[in-house]
Amino acid sequence: MNAIDWSNLSFGYMKTDYNVRSYYKDGKWSTPAETTSESIDIHMAATCLHYGQEAFEGLKAFRGKDGKIRIFRMHDNALRMQSSCHGIMMAELPVEVFEETVLKAVKLNERFVPPYGSGASLYIRPLLIGLGAQVGVKPANEYLFLVFVTPVGPYFKEGFKPTPVAILRGFDRAAPLGTGTIKIGGNYAASLVAGNKAHEMGYSAVLYLDAKEKKYLDECGPANFFGIKNNTYITPLSSSILPSITNKSLMQLAEDMGMKVERRQVPEEELATFEEAGQVGTAAVISPILRVDDIDENKSYVISKDGNAGPVSTRLYNKLKGIQQGDEPDTHGWVTILE
Ligand SMILES: *Cc1c(COP(=O)(O)O)cnc(C)c1O
Repeated sequence: MNAIDWSNLSFGYMKTDYNVRSYYKDGKWSTPAETTSESIDIHMAATCLHYGQEAFEGLKAFRGKDGKIRIFRMHDNALRMQSSCHGIMMAELPVEVFEETVLKAVKLNERFVPPYGSGASLYIRPLLIGLGAQVGVKPANEYLFLVFVTPVGPYFKEGFKPTPVAILRGFDRAAPLGTGTIKIGGNYAASLVAGNKAHEMGYSAVLYLDAKEKKYLDECGPANFFGIKNNTYITPLSSSILPSITNKSLMQLAEDMGMKVERRQVPEEELATFEEAGQVGTAAVISPILRVDDIDENKSYVISKDGNAGPVSTRLYNKLKGIQQGDEPDTHGWVTILE
């Protein structure tokens, strides 16, 4: 293998040595086993292909100054995948099978965990799909759970710079009583057209409004939203947003720093009052927001007056990265150190 140029990795797929798989059949999950194959051989009538029985997760492993590998909040990802299983009637994946498969995938690909200080990390992608031939609309009776990993570069190549986002009123990502709260591919398919349109217009993401009233902020395509004002961390409460583990972590850290935390409906007009705002998710932790443009209403809310990330976002970002990399104490028990 050629040496990996750790500091120039992109956020893309790179082949590693192994992926790890567990199959559900006759009511039981098999012991997770590794393979070197990057392909899956499935029946053409599998429910994942026709009826969207597919859920995924995303988490990361980091190498610390001490050389140890730390996986961030794996247990929370396992629980969220269970809620995805319930949401689209897939066999429930036990937390232990999730964790064992993740640990095994990281361990077997240890040489792909980027060194401390490179800014890069190991992205872990668990995937659960319905297998077995089914033509009528019903859940599968067989499933495949697999975990692959790939080293990814720092999200911000040019530093922690705010970017503009757009409100596009002609699109919804998820319905109020639909599947917005679970992590399934279908939600992503539903967001591709709007996301592409926003990118073509020079925005980093779409900021979705609630689908029913078009009054309140929901979330950005693949990331939650937060705003900061008056020493308060404010994040939308909605029945159609995905419970981001990064957001949950930042709410805790904000509280630890003596800030108030509010999870409630956030009307669009409140954007005018935020001192800082950001998109949050595993990929970037925080991606600060420069400006929000409501394209159809011809309104613009400038968040960052000087074009730089604000002090609160920066502090939260550094604190969370510090915990993930082992530079800061893990006081909430979020980190699993690989044995
Ligand atoms: C995965 C995801 C997020 C971010 O969740 P994290 O657990 O923080 O990575 C936010 N919104 C959507 C729609 C997602 O799918």
